[in-house]
Amino acid sequence: MTELLDFLSRSPSRYHAAANLAEELERNGYTRLYEGADWALAPGGRYYVTRNGSALAAFRIPGGDFSGFMISASHSDAPCLRVKENAELAGPESYVRLNVEKYGGMLCAPWMDRPLTVAGRVLVQTADGVETRLVYVDRDLLLIPSVAIHMNRKANDGYSYDPKTDMVPLMGLGLEKGSFRAVVAQAAGCEAGDILGTDLFLCLRQKGLVWGAEDQFVSAPMLDDLQCAYGCFRGFMEAEEAASVPVFALLDNEEVGSLTKQGADGTFLADVAERICAAFGKNRAQAMAHSFMVSADNAHAVHPNHPEYADATHRPAMNGGPVIKHGVRYATDGASQAVFTALCRRADVPVQQFSNRSDMAGGSTLGNISNSHLSLNTVDIGLPQLAMHSCFETAGVKDTQYLIQVMTLFYGSVFREEAGRFFLGA
Ligand code: ZN
Repeated sequence: MTELLDFLSRSPSRYHAAANLAEELERNGYTRLYEGADWALAPGGRYYVTRNGSALAAFRIPGGDFSGFMISASHSDAPCLRVKENAELAGPESYVRLNVEKYGGMLCAPWMDRPLTVAGRVLVQTADGVETRLVYVDRDLLLIPSVAIHMNRKANDGYSYDPKTDMVPLMGLGLEKGSFRAVVAQAAGCEAGDILGTDLFLCLRQKGLVWGAEDQFVSAPMLDDLQCAYGCFRGFMEAEEAASVPVFALLDNEEVGSLTKQGADGTFLADVAERICAAFGKNRAQAMAHSFMVSADNAHAVHPNHPEYADATHRPAMNGGPVIKHGVRYATDGASQAVFTALCRRADVPVQQFSNRSDMAGGSTLGNISNSHLSLNTVDIGLPQLAMHSCFETAGVKDTQYLIQVMTLFYGSVFREEAGRFFLGA
């Protein structure tokens, strides 16, 4: 659990999350590949490649021949407030605030009255072009103040948050023009005038923690989906070699529809699979028939105060193990459900089922979207949590370990399909 919390606290933005994983891959002897260069892949080799600094794919080539791929996909982004380009809002009075907009389907209320800061990346001018620098302003910089109950007696009767009015963070009083850029430039170690572009997001200063009478819960920012990303990554790193190519994929922009070059609706994952197949003279379609994907994105646990929102017969519990998601918006079908269930049984990991209440749509996932570019047997799963899309989400302390356990076995397996028979072996 401390390892997960440590990873989360070092990953205040999607760029930091991808960079932290890349750093661990480097430390473990993985070779960085570049999409714009030739890939000299060799049996026994370990590699990773990034796109846009916010998507990452890591894979290993087995020493012998391989038949297909064992893939996990999770996402690096989370709903939050995005800082606009002309960020400083001077006034009213001497207040200086930041101009932000909603990124993804966020819960607004949890962002109020908490210390916040900004994280992301800046693009800095160099002698021969532009370079990327990660930024985390490591101080309590911002806060979005609530309106006092005396001024809005209906505040507790259900409040509609207007992003342009209610969700505007306060930074200071009577600040000089350009103060925000100066703070960002200092964190980036550059001159404010050299910043040519930014991708900055608000993030919570509160660190993750374990709590409860028997320490059964973990709460932290961005559990959706960095908890799944972390669990899949650990499984990937710890798995034994099999006659398949294990692929860990982290994709961006899931919370805004995945329609970017670094999102699940881009070609990143398909491009990686294509290049691996090409390097070893494999037909991609043939290899995909012997491949399996776990699309891992957090799931809803039954809410203690609102159990009525859960489906009558699908009621995931925290610390009850990974959840298989069923429904028309998910990639799961009977076959992929069965394969993943068999895997959980073999890994001695409990498994739960989720289906949206029949009058609720639920969220999207990576599974269906990525299948339109790279089609293969896919199961949508997640770890059960509360308060999804809050800036401080809650999950069970045991579930990360369950995911690691089953993903370690998954990545050390081979999948084959022949006429409705599925083989899953070492
Ligand atoms: Zn998610």
